[in-house]
Amino acid sequence: MLKLYNTLTKRLDEVRSVEPGTVSMYTCGPTVYRDAHIGNLRSYLMADWIRRVLEVQGLTVNHVKNITDVGHMRQEVLERGEDKVIAAAIAEGKTPAQIAEFYTDRFLRDESRLSITRPKVLPKATDHIQEMVDIVERLVEVGYAYEVEGNVYYEVAKFPGYGKLSGNIHEAELLEAVRVEPDPLKRDPRDFTLWKKAEPGRELKWPSPWGDGFPGWHIECSAMSIKYLGRRFDIHTGGVDNIFPHHEGEIAQSEGFTGEPVVSLWVHGQHLLADGVKMAKSAGNSFILEDFEAQGIDPLAFRYLCMTAQYRTRLNFTFGALKAAQRGLLRLRNRVWEWSQLHELPESDTQSITQWRDRFLGLANDNLNMPGALALTWELVGSDLPGHTKVQILREFDGVLGLDLEGVVEAYRVPAEIQRLVERRAGLRGAGRYKEADDLRADLDQQGYVVEDTSSGSRVRPKTRWEKRREGWSTVSSSAEVPSLVDSPDETDFSVGLVACNYAGDVVRCVESALRWLDGHRGEVVVVDNGSADGTGDWLEQMAKADPRVRVLHADHVLGEGAAKNIVLKQCRGKTIVMMDTSAEIVGDLFGPVDKVLADDAVGVVGPFGLRTDDLHHFHDGEGESGDMDAMQAYSFCFRRTRLKDVGLMRESFRFYRNLDLDYSFHFKDKGYRVVADPALPVRQHEHRVWSALPEGERDELSRKNFRRFLDKWGGRADLLASNQK
Ligand code: AMP
Ligand code: ZN
Repeated sequence: MLKLYNTLTKRLDEVRSVEPGTVSMYTCGPTVYRDAHIGNLRSYLMADWIRRVLEVQGLTVNHVKNITDVGHMRQEVLERGEDKVIAAAIAEGKTPAQIAEFYTDRFLRDESRLSITRPKVLPKATDHIQEMVDIVERLVEVGYAYEVEGNVYYEVAKFPGYGKLSGNIHEAELLEAVRVEPDPLKRDPRDFTLWKKAEPGRELKWPSPWGDGFPGWHIECSAMSIKYLGRRFDIHTGGVDNIFPHHEGEIAQSEGFTGEPVVSLWVHGQHLLADGVKMAKSAGNSFILEDFEAQGIDPLAFRYLCMTAQYRTRLNFTFGALKAAQRGLLRLRNRVWEWSQLHELPESDTQSITQWRDRFLGLANDNLNMPGALALTWELVGSDLPGHTKVQILREFDGVLGLDLEGVVEAYRVPAEIQRLVERRAGLRGAGRYKEADDLRADLDQQGYVVEDTSSGSRVRPKTRWEKRREGWSTVSSSAEVPSLVDSPDETDFSVGLVACNYAGDVVRCVESALRWLDGHRGEVVVVDNGSADGTGDWLEQMAKADPRVRVLHADHVLGEGAAKNIVLKQCRGKTIVMMDTSAEIVGDLFGPVDKVLADDAVGVVGPFGLRTDDLHHFHDGEGESGDMDAMQAYSFCFRRTRLKDVGLMRESFRFYRNLDLDYSFHFKDKGYRVVADPALPVRQHEHRVWSALPEGERDELSRKNFRRFLDKWGGRADLLASNQK
């Protein structure tokens, strides 16, 4: 039987259901005022695999997944950036309930695209306010909770088991973990809110014995899990970030209410990282399923990818890994399709079927070893069992894997006239008329079909969306996969480099200004289309077709600024590199003057907009002065390409653009080069939309983080300041 790592007991525990034959499982569900990101979806996949593993072994799983449409919202609305979504929806005349409904539908659609089995019950928090109030009332009655001015708090000191799940058992750890906000109404800063008094003007509120208010975050899960699964149930799942305070609070509430243990097994999925760091909207790496579909990637490729790591290990998501998963999935499906078409005598080899099944379940039951199960699947594919036996076993495996392997037979069906063409082609080949046969194949390819010739005849299937998409333009997923031309000889005089991410109008203005003023010089324009989603990529393709000086590389998602700029730097072939920001425009001959300044080998960087500092902490504009500066702003940043050999590329830990220019300027200074401003250089600044589109709090925080990166490296290097070098 299935064993899972129990966060509560800190060991592998076997799933033993209270009610024989039926396992009860509660999953902390989505907060529905935004799309679930792929990290959230990884948590739900984990729960789905638990459920499937139990079901294929004959158990019924009574699965409940809540929909958080209140409580959590209040706190997160205040978070930077996200209030915009709600604000926009409200501006469209939508109510919070409509927003919740909209995102609930999208969530369910995402789950079904991932073949996540629909839970038996999907209770909404707002439908269970009375149940929450009942529990809170009871907690007050038995002395675990107290009321102050319309607020009700849980008194942590009264519950001896508090901390048993997260291990935050000492007072200091708890205080640290809750990052105490000083609420003078609480008896103890560790106490948490069960019911909160509605502030004036609040729309989402309900009557209660303590006046109008709304529930705290944790109480909804106590109320709904007990209502639908009873006072004792088997499994509770969530992501590791739920352990504290959410689940610790839930235990205190539920056990305070029932007087006995409620959940037997607590299972927590580790986080999904993206490009090596925590996912965040502002970092541009908080991906949703739609981002994949836009690229023709099957959502089930993400399911496949999540199988490559056990749920208790962090998984680093990259588009490269996702594409590899997509290829793996396609290969697997193609084999199933191939074997499904064989007309062999079905002599079922029951003994080997049982053996494969046992091995598979052994792995799945061992704390959900999906990487092992996937490896076994490929071992089966490569085995010398007859094709139809393999399909039979794969069908069983797929009950757990959930990769819709059977669906391929239907999905690969082709119209009768296409089938006839393939037969005609086989006839031509048989008659040795290979040229005509090849033409016919090319014709079918054009129409979107793949013809495969095998020893047992020719097969035809439609191309998948993924295969069709790859015929458009090619994309890169990281800077590491782009070859470096840094050591190759100059092929032209100037390379204008820029990174474009949306705002097509700005991008076109910048590229056109570069092309105009490159006339009369030898030069090229190298653009990295950094995951644009507004048609900027198409514009750039058109420009590249119309003018051979333009070269475009498309990133398949938004890469960090440092990484995207490095792709530009690696691909430039000019003697001088002029890095431009898309908000800037070249309005005169920039190239001649830049070349003249750079003729002095002591000068590393030149540009119109310099920055100075006295203490490395405060940088100020060069204010139209020319001469030595401490940094050059990214609007226009020019240097000889050969410098890349000793200065190096940019630091890719800078995902956000701000302060990356300071950092890179210091790379030049560190190698002894001067940074020089010439305010007469003809560059005009326009609105910097990447900046103005970001909410203030968010951009300040991102800037601060980047400045920290800068200071960590250069904070002690006052010797590099222009003022100290004169
Ligand atoms: P939320 O919608 O924020 O309440 O989160 C829904 C579920 O996703 C919770 O179980 C979280 O613990 C989980 N979760 C949040 N972020 C991640 C992540 N980066 N990777 C995996 N799971 C996550
Ligand atoms: Zn919950």
